Amino acid sequence: MYDFVVVGVGPAGARFSRRAAEAGYDVLAFEQGEVGDPLACSGHVSTDIWEFTGEGAREELFQNDVYGARFHVGGPHDSTRSANGNGDATGDDERDTYPFYKREVVSNVIDRVGLDRHLADLARKAGADVRDHHTVTDVREFDDRVEVTAKGPDGTDTYEAKMVAGCDGPRSRVRDALSLPEPGELLHGVLAFSDEPDDSDFVDVHLTAPRFFAWRIPRHEGGVEYGLAAPPGVQVNKHFQELIDGYDIDVSHRCSGLIPVGPPDRVTSRRGFLIGDAAAQTKPFTGGGILYGMTSADHAAREIDPDRPTSLAAYEHAWRDDLEREIELGHWLRRAYSLPEPVQRVGLRAASGEIGVHMDRPTSVFSLEHLKAMLGSDSGS
Ligand SMILES: Cc1cc2nc3c(=O)[nH]c(=O)nc-3n(C[C@H](O)[C@H](O)[C@H](O)COP(=O)(O)OP(=O)(O)OC[C@H]3O[C@@H](n4cnc5c(N)ncnc54)[C@H](O)[C@@H]3O)c2cc1C
Repeated sequence: MYDFVVVGVGPAGARFSRRAAEAGYDVLAFEQGEVGDPLACSGHVSTDIWEFTGEGAREELFQNDVYGARFHVGGPHDSTRSANGNGDATGDDERDTYPFYKREVVSNVIDRVGLDRHLADLARKAGADVRDHHTVTDVREFDDRVEVTAKGPDGTDTYEAKMVAGCDGPRSRVRDALSLPEPGELLHGVLAFSDEPDDSDFVDVHLTAPRFFAWRIPRHEGGVEYGLAAPPGVQVNKHFQELIDGYDIDVSHRCSGLIPVGPPDRVTSRRGFLIGDAAAQTKPFTGGGILYGMTSADHAAREIDPDRPTSLAAYEHAWRDDLEREIELGHWLRRAYSLPEPVQRVGLRAASGEIGVHMDRPTSVFSLEHLKAMLGSDSGS
């Protein structure tokens, strides 16, 4: 009987496995493919990421420093070539370029596949039994245990544990098996890359995709990433092609993934709990979930005692106390993406410039009341 069986070894599952193993629990973790594969993420994260990594991580994973974002109401045109490194727009598209920046580094672009492998290695070193190529096909919950069935290279086996952690991403099988509610929304995201090295200081954000946005991320030697995400019903590939055509570049290595937004009311059951994308612990205004997932994994490892199912309530409280208000504010910020263009321009012009906000913590600058007053009546979403 294991203390915890963990399903999925992305950032949330790897972090929870590591922390629970460090606390002395017996942890068995299953990853259906190879850890880190396939890639469906930009790996654009606040510099807080380095608080979750081990020795040598920065040298191994770091790609680029980012000081801010240039927002554009429209498509690319010539805007990347017309803004200088200080974020001051010059040239043809000055009217459509609104830089938000800090004088110090705001975020890093990192090797996301490498991050997952690094985090899984840390979990193994802490004593967790992490098994690649094991797909969990069934989860059953009883009063005194859970049974988790996994199909691996040597066949199918069923494992007993005191609790199961569903860290299996946006389409979580564990969530379904435990009859836990779905996230509010699943956005569809696409990515592709061009080869030319670019170590510039700004990401570009284009408010051209309905109810979300498109982006360009300089990844230094990793080339440049172009991406777009939008809710169901939006022609994501059509909008993405317009982005690529607007930048007039050739891209390769296309990939896509889902972004859950809006955590459900409950992410715990009798002997099971969800962490990360399975629980929609993401930022509604960017879709980023790496830091929120790992932060929630720390809450889970600290609060949950596998011998006391009532401790699941403490996890539910802890992660919500920490992140729920940030997520609520994030929903309100996202509303700005749906405002009419002229209103967006006025708002962006007024708000742009040097900023004090932490990219994972909108409450560091905005108050909910303030945002509601600004966005409440005009918002389309
Ligand atoms: C296009 C796009 C761009 C993004 N960009 C960013 C970004 O720049 N910054 C950021 O912070 N976030 C970004 N995200 C979000 C980020 O990728 C997720 O929030 C993050 O990966 C969530 O981590 P997780 O561990 O919860 O889930 P995942 O990383 O999805 O890991 C879940 C794991 O579970 C495994 N699994 C699933 N089912 C089973 C099963 N039955 N058995 C065994 N294993 C299973 C999967 O193979 C996977 O490895 C982006 C997402 C998309 C789609």
